[in-house]
Amino acid sequence: MKKVYLDYSATTPVKPEVVEAMLPYFTEYYGNASSIYEVGREAKAAMNVAREEVARLIGAKPSEIFFTAGGTESDNWALKSIAQDLKAKGRGNHLITTKIEHHAILHTCEALEKQGFEVTYLEVDHQGMISLEALEEAIRPETILITVMYVNNEIGTMQPVKAIGEIARARGVLFHTDAVQALGNVAIDVDHDRIDLLSMSAHKIYGPKGIGALYVRQGTRITPFIHGGAQENKRRAGTENIPAIVGFGEAARLAGLHLQAHIEKLTALREKLKDGILSAVPEVVYNGHPTERHPGNVNLCFKYVEGEAMILLLDHLGIAASSGSACTSGSLDPSHVLMAIGLSHEYTNGSLRLSVGDFTSEEDVDYVLEKLPAVILRLREMSPLYEAVQGGRA
Ligand SMILES: *Cc1c(COP(=O)(O)O)cnc(C)c1O
Repeated sequence: MKKVYLDYSATTPVKPEVVEAMLPYFTEYYGNASSIYEVGREAKAAMNVAREEVARLIGAKPSEIFFTAGGTESDNWALKSIAQDLKAKGRGNHLITTKIEHHAILHTCEALEKQGFEVTYLEVDHQGMISLEALEEAIRPETILITVMYVNNEIGTMQPVKAIGEIARARGVLFHTDAVQALGNVAIDVDHDRIDLLSMSAHKIYGPKGIGALYVRQGTRITPFIHGGAQENKRRAGTENIPAIVGFGEAARLAGLHLQAHIEKLTALREKLKDGILSAVPEVVYNGHPTERHPGNVNLCFKYVEGEAMILLLDHLGIAASSGSACTSGSLDPSHVLMAIGLSHEYTNGSLRLSVGDFTSEEDVDYVLEKLPAVILRLREMSPLYEAVQGGRA
């Protein structure tokens, strides 16, 4: 059976070049990067190269990159450490975020609220965009951090990050962005975008899982989140995962090298997929912003369809896709993102996220366009509501 993977927003396969780059660091250059003899120095040198590659991809300095165990840790670190430190200094206890953040941000904000912080959750419009006026109005004298994701993981909408950064800077508030979905899919420049802190993850850019980084602008004080040894400039303790760091570095290098071609390829596949589905299936909405979006994200809601059933039927046809975000599936609650853009339950239940990537082919898209309409029709024929509506029309 044909296998088509269309869930690149959940995770990506590791590129063969990345695996190649990692392998010697398991068996040959296995030293502890803190050791001063040769195998230790080799490990440390490789880590420095990786740090340069990751920094280059976002226009930062290597000294501003701190490796972590992934996007979730970077988000937790940025929010908890900045919030607690600035509150302790009497700077305030108020944070601003959005209703459509990843759970790594939303649940961290909820934990901070339990500790006495106040959090404003900005609304988004039907396309998933925040309002800059609403952001300006939400800023108070005691606001210490604004955290707004760069690109949304469910509907792909890209926020006006530079404008947000300018507002934050003008008002003397730090700006953090969860750029896990943006990295390698959008040209990011932390100086141009006025970003103070930025979260990244390797496994969304064809690198290994369990490794990520937090960018912290020079001069921005951040207290450690993990205490222990002196690694990562005394900010993130624990023996460095050198093979994973090397893999992240190589993935970042490849992402930077091929960024424009990657964006063009994904955009063409996305448009073909989206147009094909919209012309073959009635009563469906295409979510997110038409142009300001992730190049590989197609998010659709089909009326009279149950999302989980759709994912299972597609799986039987060899197609891997997602309904809502991976973290939300498993529960039958509608996605908080789809609720925030104002979709009614009859649409949110039938949500489908298809995300294309570097290994997606035209044939893969053709296969989905050949199979999906029949899957939708089959599910609709099982829906009592659809039957009732069809009966009414007859
Ligand atoms: C995947 C993802 C994360 C979590 O990153 P991990 O490395 O899997 O912990 C955080 N934010 C967004 C937007 C993501 O897509």
